Amino acid sequence: MSATRDYYDVLGVPRDADDASIKKAFRRLARELHPDVNSHDPNAEEKFKQAAEAYEVLSDPERRATYDRYGHEGLRSGGYAPNFEGFGSISDIFDAFFGGSGGFGDLFGGGAFGGGARGPGGAIQGGDVAVNAQIDLAEAAHGTSVEVSYETVAICEHCHGNGAEPGTPIETCPKCNGTGQLRAVTRTPFGQVVRATVCDRCDGDGRVAKEPCKVCRGRGRKVERSKVSVDVPAGIADGQRIRITGRGHAGERGGPPGDLYVQIRVREDPRFVRDGDDLVTAVDVAAPLAALGTTVSVPTVDGPVELDIPAGTQPHETVLIRGAGMPALRGRRSGDLRVVVNVVVPRHLSREQRELHEQLADSMTEHNLRTEEGVFGKLRRAFGV
Ligand SMILES: [Zn+2]
Ligand SMILES: [Zn+2]
Repeated sequence: MSATRDYYDVLGVPRDADDASIKKAFRRLARELHPDVNSHDPNAEEKFKQAAEAYEVLSDPERRATYDRYGHEGLRSGGYAPNFEGFGSISDIFDAFFGGSGGFGDLFGGGAFGGGARGPGGAIQGGDVAVNAQIDLAEAAHGTSVEVSYETVAICEHCHGNGAEPGTPIETCPKCNGTGQLRAVTRTPFGQVVRATVCDRCDGDGRVAKEPCKVCRGRGRKVERSKVSVDVPAGIADGQRIRITGRGHAGERGGPPGDLYVQIRVREDPRFVRDGDDLVTAVDVAAPLAALGTTVSVPTVDGPVELDIPAGTQPHETVLIRGAGMPALRGRRSGDLRVVVNVVVPRHLSREQRELHEQLADSMTEHNLRTEEGVFGKLRRAFGV
């Protein structure tokens, strides 16, 4: 995401634009860029994310002031880093902005943070939030707890979410007389055409605060940073999501809050490849030691262990350490650690070593090469199938 584009340019509003025109500009853009109407434009999603990011900042008085003074850098140093990774789809982003199950229609009907069914008492569930958390492989093996910090839309405490300065009345919207809709009547040769649009004064609520709340400027909601500690179960895999009910965006009109989804990223461990619940690692063993049998040190997620390599171990044979893989999430038995033996033929022989190898080579017979597997087994091994 290009974070360097000027937010005012993105929304196409002047720098002194008021809240209402910022909101209007964003809603217009969101309508234009919605993927349902924009499947032909591959950049629509990216543009929508930019618009959403610009709106997130410019609609919040504190952040807007920071941005005006210090630009993008100021927002980053303030700990605000817009992050839409982890959202499953653009619909999730819409939900985060427009409140839960809201769809395309809400962009026409709802306020910028509205959504769902409008009307008296229509409770709307808050949107979900997605964040990432990184853990390492040992933490994934043993289970851990991570603290995640994220921003949510919360109810403004000053006005308890109704958008009015405490002690001041909430009145029937004078512009739409409380209907939430404006009707424009046009005369045409075919008769009267009545078009209904959402009232731009009350955003379809039908009610407006006489004196808007000074803290949230009448929005009733504000962006707040939250922290939550998340228990990560042993055996979790990279990319799996943990859902924490009720820790997402606040609901509206008494609706329940959305959920928090924590996507777990397991840092790669250069010593292991994960294959389901199994772990795979490789150890180098010099050819003479593979012939004689030896003991090597092998890494596990719980630290190194000693492993016996049987005499006559062939290149790429695998030795299993049962149960030393990852624990299984759902009650199955734990995975194994598969140790691939990388038999290394010695290089750079000293004179003495060369003589010893010559003696050894002279003494070799068919018997030394004989295996229990037939010729097809050898071929299979050679082609690694
Ligand atoms: Zn308020
Ligand atoms: Zn109105």
